[in-house]
Amino acid sequence: ASVHALTDEVPTPHRIQDRNRPQPPAPRTGFINTPDTDPDLPGNRAWGRAIAERMEHSTLGSELVEESWVATEDELDTIMSRGAKAAASWQALTADERAEILHRAGDVLERKRADLLEVMGSECGKTLDQGDPEVSEAIDFAHYYAELGRELQKTNGAEFVPSALTVVTPPWNFPVAIPAGSTLSALASGSAVVIKPAGPAARSGAVMVEALWEAGVPRDVLQFVQLGERELGTQFISHHLVERLILTGAYETAELFRSFRPDLPLLAETSGKNAVIVTPSADLDLAAKDVAYSAFGHAGQKCSAASLVILVGSVSTSKRFRNQLIDAVQSLHVGYPWDQRTQMGPIIEPASGKLLRGLTTLGDGENWVLKPTQLDSSGKLWSPGVRDNVERGSEYHTTEYFGPILGIMTAGTLDEAVDMVNEIDYGLTTGLHSLNPDEIKYWMNHIEAGNLYVNRGITGAIVQRQPFGGWKKSAIGAGTKAGGPNYLVGLGTWRDAPVEP
Ligand code: GLU
Repeated sequence: ASVHALTDEVPTPHRIQDRNRPQPPAPRTGFINTPDTDPDLPGNRAWGRAIAERMEHSTLGSELVEESWVATEDELDTIMSRGAKAAASWQALTADERAEILHRAGDVLERKRADLLEVMGSECGKTLDQGDPEVSEAIDFAHYYAELGRELQKTNGAEFVPSALTVVTPPWNFPVAIPAGSTLSALASGSAVVIKPAGPAARSGAVMVEALWEAGVPRDVLQFVQLGERELGTQFISHHLVERLILTGAYETAELFRSFRPDLPLLAETSGKNAVIVTPSADLDLAAKDVAYSAFGHAGQKCSAASLVILVGSVSTSKRFRNQLIDAVQSLHVGYPWDQRTQMGPIIEPASGKLLRGLTTLGDGENWVLKPTQLDSSGKLWSPGVRDNVERGSEYHTTEYFGPILGIMTAGTLDEAVDMVNEIDYGLTTGLHSLNPDEIKYWMNHIEAGNLYVNRGITGAIVQRQPFGGWKKSAIGAGTKAGGPNYLVGLGTWRDAPVEP
C-alpha cells in the first residue's frame, strides 16, 4: 500500500508488521491488520521529526470545531431530524456499497496518518509511539467493520434491522481510534451517526470525521457537534430520535447517561483497575519492562493501563524485581510529545479530584517508593509514582485513578493473587507474567476480566486479534467487544426474514 508523506520534502514512512505477527487471514472476512510505522528506519525518523515539530503549534481541525457548536435545543432537534432522515438513504445503499465507502475511509485515514499524529500530539499529548498504533487501529476498524457490515446481511433466518440514529460520545484519551471505531461500527451497521467528541479531543475528532466525509460518508449521515450548555448534554443523550448510544468513559458517566433514558440501548466501555501478576517462574526482565510500559504509557491515561502489580512468593520477598521496576520507571523521560525524547507525556486534564488525591495524599501505610512530583506550573507534567505495600481492601487496591501511579501488592500464592484481582469491581484488562503452563492455565480459568494478556503488556488491544471489552463494572449494555465479531449485532434489532409461501 502506498503511504502518504507529510509534505513533498518529507520522505514516505516504511511500515512494519511487528505488532502484527504472521497470522492467517480471518476465515470469513479476509481482514488483515494495518502495519505500524517503524520509527527506527532513517527515513521515518525524519518523518517523525517533521510531525513532532508541527505538534506544538498545530491548529488542524480548528475550523470544523468552530463551526460545529450547538447552542440551542432547536438546533439539536434539527440535527437529530436531519440524521434520522438521512439514515433512510444510507440504508437504501447495499451493504456492499456501504462497505466500499468504509474501506475508502480506511484508506483516507492511512493517507492522513501524519495529520492525525500531529493533532493527537498537539491536543492530547500522544507521543508518536503511542499515536501511531492508534491510527493503525482506526484504519483497522474501518476495514474490519466494513466486512462485518457485509456479513450482517448474510444471516440466515433473521433479518438485521439497523437503528436509524446512533449517538457517539467518545473519550479524549484515544482521540482518534475510539471515536473512529464507534462511528464506523454504527455506519457499517446502517445507522446514521451524530458524534460529540470529548472537549479536550475535539480537533482530533474533527480531523477523523473529515477523513470519513472525504471517503464519501454523506455529511447528513455523519454529523459532528459540540454542545454549549450543560443541560444540552442531557437533551442530546435523551433525544427521542436517538436509538443507540455508544459511550466510552467512566462507569459513573455511563450510569448517569443510562438514568437519562433507561430505555435506550447503550454500548459502553467503562472504567478499569487493572493488575499484572508476576510469579517466580516469570522472565523478570520482561515483566519489569512490560509493567512499566503498561502503567506509564500515555501517563497511565488508559482504561487498559496497569495500576497494580502483584508480586507472588519469592518475587515479593526479593529486591530484584522491585529494583528493576523502579529503575525502569525512574528512567522514563517525562515531557510533551513534540520533544522526541518523551516517553511519558502530559496529564491532559490537569490533575484534580481522585487523581490528585492518588498522586499526593493517599493512604496511610501505603508507601511511596517513587513519589510523584509536579514538574511544571501547568499541572500537566508529573513524574511517575510507585507505591509499595498497597494493602488488600484499601482505597488504592480498588479505585481507578487514571493517571501515572502504580501500586505494588504482594501475595503468598498465585491463587491468592487471583483472588485479589477478582475482588476489584472492574474487570477490563489483566496480565500474568509466568513461564509455567500450569500457572497460566489456572490463571486463565479463574481470573475475571475481559482482556487477558500473558507475558506481554496489557494495553494495546488489536482489532479482530484481541477485541477490546471488559467484564463486571468495566462494561455496560450489550457488553460486546470493540473490534470483535459481534460488535455490530448490538446496533440494531432482528426480525424474521420473509418466508417464501
Ligand atoms: N483499547 C485500548 C487499549 O487496549 C484502551 C482504550 C481505553 O483506554 O479506553 O489499550
